[in-house]
Amino acid sequence: MSTFDTIVIGAGMSGLTSARMLVDAGQKVVVLEGRDRVGGRMHTDRGAGYPVDLGASWIHGIEDSPLWDLVQALGIPTIEYTVGSFQVGGRPMENFDGDGRRMDAAATAEWIADVDLADRLLLEEIDSSSPGDTYLDVTERALDRSGLPPERIDEIREFFRHRVEEQCGAWIGDLDAHGLDEDAIEGDEVIFPRGYDELPRRIGAGLDVRLEHTVTRVSRSSDGVVVHANGTEFHADRAIVTVPLGILNSGTITFEPALPDAVSGPISRLGMGVFNKVFVQFPERFWDEEAYVIRALGEAGEHWHSWYDVSAVSGVPTLLTFAAGPFGRRMQQRADAEIVADALSALRLLHGEAVGEPLAHWVTRWGDDRFSNGSYSYLATGSSHHDHDALAGPVDGVLHFAGEATWGDEPATVGAAFASGHRAAERILDHAVELADFAARITARERTEAR
Ligand SMILES: Cc1cc2nc3c(=O)[nH]c(=O)nc-3n(C[C@H](O)[C@H](O)[C@H](O)COP(=O)(O)OP(=O)(O)OC[C@H]3O[C@@H](n4cnc5c(N)ncnc54)[C@H](O)[C@@H]3O)c2cc1C
Repeated sequence: MSTFDTIVIGAGMSGLTSARMLVDAGQKVVVLEGRDRVGGRMHTDRGAGYPVDLGASWIHGIEDSPLWDLVQALGIPTIEYTVGSFQVGGRPMENFDGDGRRMDAAATAEWIADVDLADRLLLEEIDSSSPGDTYLDVTERALDRSGLPPERIDEIREFFRHRVEEQCGAWIGDLDAHGLDEDAIEGDEVIFPRGYDELPRRIGAGLDVRLEHTVTRVSRSSDGVVVHANGTEFHADRAIVTVPLGILNSGTITFEPALPDAVSGPISRLGMGVFNKVFVQFPERFWDEEAYVIRALGEAGEHWHSWYDVSAVSGVPTLLTFAAGPFGRRMQQRADAEIVADALSALRLLHGEAVGEPLAHWVTRWGDDRFSNGSYSYLATGSSHHDHDALAGPVDGVLHFAGEATWGDEPATVGAAFASGHRAAERILDHAVELADFAARITARERTEAR
């Protein structure tokens, strides 16, 4: 029986960050991962000869971002793509009205002004909201006060619903009024032409990662922890649990003794959203050369509403669209061909027969994924930002939690996963871990191995 200083459960961004920092500090660490790969919800499919990011794609705001600093220090190339957060303006977009008609410059300017006004009123309503108010409640109050004509209100209502679905994977009526408080984007957004999972792969290279080791039980005592995976017991002084919230609240891992209320409360209160991606490649580009996004408002965009041009990554005309929230859950039950046909018929309402027959497609089903049970966490009605950080523990000094759901500042992101892994390592080591040193050690090791 081998004994470790720390067992890390999960080889996603948070788990690999913690493990790497602890190993750099001299600890003996094992990482137990259920999947047959590392990266978790950062997953790049390279089967077609170019990268397709089926999980995370964006850094949502590079200003004052430790994640961006790390990407820079590791020399990972990026492409600026500042519409990953459902903005209405700022970059060229093709907007279509509820009847599927292309909006001209004046109509687009009016639309942007309408959303700005509604957003200002929405902030006021959120500020004066009461505990238990949903994002739908505050949205409706803001729209009531806007004084805009009913048909324009309908379009904004739809837009707000879609924004919540894309940012949180949730139905607007299930999100707390404060559920998008942490959503500010500072600076440009970027995507990864070599695939985002390069980052966790490079952090994790050389670590003792046991793939296809699904953890089913975690026992703790004052002596440490015993973790069960694949019929084997792993012993250590402590563990860091980084499995997604969807796994924690599914009960597929038994904790002995049961987790205290301080941690089980947040697990039951926070929500796990569903956000799926559909990539479609076309023989020819039929949308504007400079357009970042094609967006349909109102009825024309009831389900499939936003199409992001990601051709720069593959070199082939490619649009990425999302199915999130309740629609994302329903979509998962259908066959790929049906999903793509449905999405294309919505796109043809906008661009007609110019929309060619697709050359290839990729469809995700994160809500059915047995190692995540959803895409990312959200602030369900009645939960609070404090719940995210409370979820980190530690419990009895031996059980730490990390992962996007445990970081209250910007949950649901890669940045949150990274920061939470960093926090868990610092808590265990009881001293600061400088991020510049962390990055420098990775590149130094890569240089040594390349020799
Ligand atoms: C479709 C999609 C798009 C996204 N887009 C973005 C984006 O553009 N920008 C952004 O910042 N974020 C985005 N995110 C969110 C981002 O991917 C996550 O916040 C982040 O990757 C989470 O990292 P993590 O370490 O917390 O969890 P994970 O990456 O999920 O790692 C946890 C690991 O635990 C493993 N595991 C689960 N159960 C067990 C078990 N029983 N035993 C052992 N191992 C187990 C899992 O397999 C996984 O590898 C997106 C997510 C999805 C799904």
